[in-house]
Parts: sequence; structure tokens; C-alpha cells
Amino acid sequence: MKKALVGLLALVASSVTFAATPWQKITHPVAGSAQSIGSFANGCIVGAHGLPPEDANYQIMRQDQRRYFGHPDLVMFIQRLSSQVHQLGLGTVLIGDMGMAAGGRFSSGHASHQTGLDVDIFLQLPKTRWTSAQLLRPQALDLVASDDKHVIQRLWQPEIDSLIKLAAKDNDVTRIFVNPAIKQQLCLDAGADRDWLRKVRPWFAHRAHMHVRLRCPADSLECVDQPLPPPGDGCGAELQSWFQPPPPGSKPPKKKTPPPIPASCQALLDNHEI
Ligand SMILES: [Zn+2]
Repeated sequence: MKKALVGLLALVASSVTFAATPWQKITHPVAGSAQSIGSFANGCIVGAHGLPPEDANYQIMRQDQRRYFGHPDLVMFIQRLSSQVHQLGLGTVLIGDMGMAAGGRFSSGHASHQTGLDVDIFLQLPKTRWTSAQLLRPQALDLVASDDKHVIQRLWQPEIDSLIKLAAKDNDVTRIFVNPAIKQQLCLDAGADRDWLRKVRPWFAHRAHMHVRLRCPADSLECVDQPLPPPGDGCGAELQSWFQPPPPGSKPPKKKTPPPIPASCQALLDNHEI
């Protein structure tokens, strides 16, 4: 992507809306051994697991949306991360959207989260558990100042550094998306141990949550991974380019029509409609 278009893209990205999709009608996982199929932004999942709703270490937000399904690797990652966070006494992990029961495209909100390998996690770690009313209408904590260049120091806690670092150090995690201002703060806070920063990628929005993406499971043969992020901690010129205004006269990119869905996902939809 041309870095110069970042500002304009932000406008486009903030209003992602698609037509209603057939995937939302599938309310229960498709039976079978777990298989993530296709790419993060164009795929589906067979044999998804629901994240267990009751857990001492995490809480699931907006359960009424039924977006708490994923590959068993994702369920295990969330349990592993939350248990590490709990053992360190950092607080309770707040889980946002994972995927729908069979994955697939959302009507609004997310372009990815389609293969059961993505999860949004709030960048706040409450020390007391949220009530069910709070969980149904979660209050996002915007960590980024209005200049879009810095985090709000009063809200930035060392626990958030630890949460993102723990997730990035997990072997199953391939990328974590956060706002460029948050990545910049992580770059400033990190000492000599910086390898994990490679996985933390600046992206639009993501001011109150991080989006964690897992690698394709080895036995999901139709799962398509992204190329690895560029080498290095990503704290230099690439990050700085996010803070530059777009050059005068640049136009927002044309809206792309989504590519055809993978044949195995289409077959799954066709079977469901019978
Ligand atoms: Zn996300």
C-alpha cells in the first residue's frame, strides 16, 4: 500500500459496510474436524469451537452477537494468554469479536475475522470483573490522543505493554494490529528485547483494542497465510510514514469488489441452504 494514502484510507476504513451475507444465518459450527479455509479476509471455518463463556481469567463481551467462535487453536491461545495475564496479576482479559459459527464475511465492521483465527482484545485489564450489563455494552477506552500521534499518557498503563508483549511472544501469533500511536508507545517502552515488536503492525483505528491473528494451523491445508511482516522491529521509517499527511491531490482508492469465495466455503454454503 502507498503510505501516502494512509490519511484517505483511514476515512474509507472507518466506514466499512458490506451487503448482508449468508454467513450470518449459520448459527452453529459446521460439524467436522477443525479446518480454517481460505484467507483471513475471504474464507470460512469447519468445526469451529465456541470460547467457553465462563472463565476465571477472561470475560466475553457482546455475547448476544454470537461472534465467539474460532479454530481450537484460537480458543487455546485466548485461554493461554488470559491465564498468563491472570498469573501476573494484571487483571481480567476482555474478549471482543472472534468469528461467526462458520466464519465467513460479516455484513459490517470487519473485513477479516473470516477463518476463525482472529480475535479482538480490549486494551484495558479491569481488576474487578465486569457485570453482564457492562459486557453487553462495553465501554471502549480510547487510548489515542486527538492528534492521532500519541497515546494519552494518563490512560497508558504498563499492564497494556505487558498484555501486547505476551500476545506477540506467543508462537501461534503471526500479527497484532494496533493504532500507529500505540505501536509508537510500545517502541518507546521496549528495552533491548524487541524481536516481538516485528509482529505488532500499525493499522487504522484499533485505538481501544488490539486485533490478534494466528498463523494457519498446520493441518488446515486450504488455509492461506499472509507473508511475514518485514524484518526488524518496525519502529523506524515505516511507522513514521503513518504520521505523514497524504500528499495534495491524492485520491482514495476505488472500492474493490470482493473476490469469489473459496470453492470449499461455497460448497459449505450450498449444503447449508438445502
Ligand atoms: Zn479485529
